[in-house]
Formats: sequence, structure tokens, C-alpha cells
Amino acid sequence: MSRVYNFSAGPAVLPEEVLREAAEEMLDYRGTGMSVMEMSHRSKAYETIIKEAEADLRELMNIPDNYKVLFLQGGASQQFAMIPMNLMKNKVADYIVTGQWAKKAYQEACIYGKANKIASSEDKTFSYIPDCSDLPVSEDADYVYICENNTIYGTKYKTLPNTKGKPLVADVSSCFLSEPVDVSKYGVIYGGVQKNIGPAGVVIVIIREDLITEDVLPGTPTMLKYKIHADNASLYNTPPAYGIYVCGKVFKWLKAKGGLAAMKEYNEKKAKVLYDYLDESMLFKEDRSLMNVPFVTGNEELDAKFVKEAAAAGFVNLKGHRTVGGMRASIYNAMPIEGVEKLVAFMKEFEKQNV
Ligand SMILES: *Cc1c(COP(=O)(O)O)cnc(C)c1O
Repeated sequence: MSRVYNFSAGPAVLPEEVLREAAEEMLDYRGTGMSVMEMSHRSKAYETIIKEAEADLRELMNIPDNYKVLFLQGGASQQFAMIPMNLMKNKVADYIVTGQWAKKAYQEACIYGKANKIASSEDKTFSYIPDCSDLPVSEDADYVYICENNTIYGTKYKTLPNTKGKPLVADVSSCFLSEPVDVSKYGVIYGGVQKNIGPAGVVIVIIREDLITEDVLPGTPTMLKYKIHADNASLYNTPPAYGIYVCGKVFKWLKAKGGLAAMKEYNEKKAKVLYDYLDESMLFKEDRSLMNVPFVTGNEELDAKFVKEAAAAGFVNLKGHRTVGGMRASIYNAMPIEGVEKLVAFMKEFEKQNV
């Protein structure tokens, strides 16, 4: 067996310890004689798995009691519709568009009501985060929406926008659990788990209770109502059971690593190795993400050569997003610092050979 250093933006690297544990439990989960994949989601064993996953996540993020934690399906993209369907009581919402994911969410919201783009960084191909300290937030906005870490562009909000009292809704798919957050500053925090937590197919929604109501847009399907899932503790129908089980293991792994403050410190150390090197050679960028680091050589052919040679050396999925080009190293929680150090050593060697 040989594992590569996987710099994919998602689905992405998971902790090796977690994968080994899941492998050990594959055929017989703790004496049940079956895999978690084969188990009733109403069984005692599964009830313990999902309850523990929620309790561990609550502990890690210090989630206040007046927030629900929902394990749902449909990926982050499903939330682009679910959010306006459930929260647009006045049929008005404000969007800050800092990348393709925020733009997609904005476009989806336009289907359901009046979505206002109150700030955008599209003028400079989403290379920065606009000043959000005094935006023209709509009087009757039901919420203000952001994508907190822009996976494709490698930008991240360093301070949250001033929403002037409106609930903040944030897509944190690519920075979930990478550092401590103050949940009470948000109305909704959500993310697809395949970037930093677990297998694709699960989306976690952390939502303030007062935002969960029966009063949703007419025609909202039952499966897209937060209230149904909240009232049934994420077990209204069969949940993505195996995915939630792996997420639960990652939560325990994070707790054993010292929680989110320790993770932040590790992620900063890791990102610094890469940024320090990039500073002296190729890339300049503000609002830098700790999770996704895009870079270029300035020459497309050389970029392609780099991606190819890096993959051959065991550093895979370094190709940038198809709309941006260049390279991107995603260095999520589970990427060991050795992976980044070895990548930088490889880049130095490549630079020596190619300039
Ligand atoms: C990957 C990603 C998405 C899309 O996630 P899906 O689960 O594929 O729908 C949305 N937002 C952000 C910030 C992402 O990184």
C-alpha cells in the first residue's frame, strides 16, 4: 500500500487514523456482526453513533443550546435553495459575492425572491474580500449571505461582515473546523463535509432555533424543510448514515488533537511553510486562506509540467480549478505538515531546474 500526499480541494484527504479505524470496523462494528453501512438507522448502535457525533461537534465548536445541528444530504449546493426557501419570509435577502460558490447561491436565491448583491469582488476575478464594515444592508432583508472561505480563489474573511442586525448565513464548506468560531455570531453555518470533515454526501447545518419555522415558501418540499429535520433529530428519513459515522470519527480525532484552537495553530504553521516559500518566489495575494492556496508560475506550459511532475512524485491533485488555471494546494486539517514541507522541497527543486 502506498498513500500519496493528496492536495485535492474536495473530496479531500482524511486522517489516516480515521480511515484505519473505519477499515477495522468494516465487517463487524463493535460486536454487532455487521458494517455501519448495513445497519438500521433506527438501531441502538446507530443512535449512539449519531448522538455522539452531534455531542462531539457541539463540544468542538462550543455550539450554544439554542442552535440545532442537522446532518442532511444534497451537499452544500442543496443549501443554496434550502436557505431561501426556509428563511426568506420577506422574500428579500442580501448576498456578498466573493466567488463562484457565493455566486451560485445568489443565483439560486433569485429564483425564490429578491436577492440583492450588496458587494462583490467579481471585478478582480474574486481575488479579494470586499470591505464589509458598512454595506447597504436592506431594511427588510431576511438574512445576509456569505461564503466564508473561497475554495477556488484561496481567500477568506478575516472579519465577519457587519450585517446591521440581520442574521448571517455562512457557507463554511472549505474552512469547517479549521479554527475556532463564535457560533453565536451566525444565524446559519453550513458546509458540505467532503472538504475538511468526511465523505461526500453529508452537509452539516448549524442553525439558530428561531430561524426554524413552519413559515416557509409555498411549495417547499417536505425534505427541504429545516423544521422536519430538526423535529426528527436528522432521522426523518434514512440519513447518509455511513458518512455521518466517518464524520463522528473525525470529530473524535480533532478532539484528541486538542480541538480547534490546536488545529488552527497547526494549520497556520502548515500554511506558513507554503506561503513563506511562495512569497520569495511566485505569488502575492491578500485575505489568504489557511485551507486553499492557489499559485502560478506565470507560464501555462510550466504549470502543466509542474502538475505532472508533482503527481509523479506523489503530490497529487495540485491542478487549479478549471476556471482559474495554475495550481492550488488544499491543505485541510488532515494534511500532515510533512506533506507541505516535502511539497515545498519539491517546488524548490522544480524552480531550480526550470528557471
Ligand atoms: C465544494 C464547495 C461547495 C459545493 O459543495 P457540494 O457538496 O458539491 O454541493 C459549496 N461551497 C463551497 C465553499 C465549496 O467549497
